[in-house]
Amino acid sequence: MSKPTPEVYEQGKGMDAHNQAMREIRSRKEASYDPHEPTRVWLDEDNTPDGVKTSLTIILNTGGCRWARAGGCTMCGYVAESVDGGSVSHDALMDQIDVCLAHEADNSDEQADLIKIYTSGSFLDEREVGAGSRRAIADTFADRERIVLESLPDFVDREKIGDFTQHGIHTDIAIGLETATDRVRHDCVNKYFDFTDFEDACAEAAVADEAASDAAAGIKAYLLMKPPFLTESEAVADMISSIERCADVDGCHTVSMNPCNVQRYTMVDDLYFNNGYRPPWLWSVAHVLEETAAVDAIVVSDPVGHGSDRGPHNCQECDDRVQKAIKDFDLRQDPSVFEQVSCECELTWETVIERERSFNQPLTR
Ligand code: SF4
Ligand SMILES: [Zn+2]
Repeated sequence: MSKPTPEVYEQGKGMDAHNQAMREIRSRKEASYDPHEPTRVWLDEDNTPDGVKTSLTIILNTGGCRWARAGGCTMCGYVAESVDGGSVSHDALMDQIDVCLAHEADNSDEQADLIKIYTSGSFLDEREVGAGSRRAIADTFADRERIVLESLPDFVDREKIGDFTQHGIHTDIAIGLETATDRVRHDCVNKYFDFTDFEDACAEAAVADEAASDAAAGIKAYLLMKPPFLTESEAVADMISSIERCADVDGCHTVSMNPCNVQRYTMVDDLYFNNGYRPPWLWSVAHVLEETAAVDAIVVSDPVGHGSDRGPHNCQECDDRVQKAIKDFDLRQDPSVFEQVSCECELTWETVIERERSFNQPLTR
């Protein structure tokens, strides 16, 4: 059997039921978006290998991920937010960057130390961001301390990274690995690559070209807690082992473990609508962070939509408190923050962990 790649699926040569289902679901999308506006931009603080830094996060609208166009991941609704037609011109991309810089200037007296650029796809895929645009963006942020660039492992390439490192910017590549377990990544997430591809990308990023005074780049692994078809306890076990395996890979200094939320135009949304999916409990997130606190990497989590039915949640009474403990943990990496939160619903969560089986899930809403 041939190895699946985005191209094979895109040309319709591959046989994949997940992709067919995802294409049908995505085709229900009707909204369209302005190529001169970023999808989102915000200021925040982030834990980095050099400590907590102010950050400017940019979601560039680049026309979307090519894997999503083939069908794509079961939980990912980002392509529904992308520009119609699948490509964005250099001028429009630079307009988006200008909007982001204006947002920063309007909301902060100082420049953020850290820039994070996501594209809901791969910043290093030249079909999304051409070489000229990539270099112009590197020049724009040349005076910042650190930059994070989102990419699938296929596009991680030393020369492209060099556009940033040559300016002396600490550069990290954010890879949506989702899980270290190939079976779960393939069958539950419908993501095509293997853990070995992630390891190869880490090795490629770590190559330093001393002659060109290029420093090595680091890796931030993004994991997905509780893709569809896993029980709560399977999802927890999968995350604990995934964090441990990522932390063992040279160059992977940070793991961002993010609970799945229910996005529109996805397979997860269809399952949720038919009572077949519940986002993870925040107790599960806290438990995984506690269990992996000793690994040799920064481990953070940013539960999006916490406390809502479509996001990670407990009982509504304690959601804000547990979320706050998770955010404290992100900055301080101290698992004792979780000793200070408790709630009666922990008993329900423990029962779900103990009794939920894949043939009876979800056991609660
Ligand atoms: S999760 Fe990433 S790779 Fe998967 S469809 Fe979304 S943007 Fe593409
Ligand atoms: Zn509770």
